[in-house]
Amino acid sequence: MHEFSIVQSLLSLIESYAEENGAFRVSKVVVSVGVLSGVEPSLLETAFNTFKEGTVAQDAELLIELEKLKLKCGSCGKESEKEELNLVCPECGSQNTEVTGGEDLLLKSLEMECEETLDRGQM
Ligand SMILES: [Zn+2]
Repeated sequence: MHEFSIVQSLLSLIESYAEENGAFRVSKVVVSVGVLSGVEPSLLETAFNTFKEGTVAQDAELLIELEKLKLKCGSCGKESEKEELNLVCPECGSQNTEVTGGEDLLLKSLEMECEETLDRGQM
């Protein structure tokens, strides 16, 4: 399944970030999913919860933010955002539009617990 390979690369990215920052635990993962990315958020979540076991992110909560479709119109030049999947410019009705966003899946932020945080917590 598409989502499985996405999650596996997401988790390896998370693990390398965690290692760079000396984190022993990741508590929260925020990803942005574009409406055109072809990723089904519920499948992504299921895949994440399956593959996170045994990784630094095994207790992490996954938050999925949906990124709207972003269009730039080639006729009137207007940039717009839409939730529905059609490429017609809402301003002038032209179909001469270019997709400028909403196609990607991005790792937006991570909440990690590092050795330092733990030391501070014990003081
Ligand atoms: Zn337009």
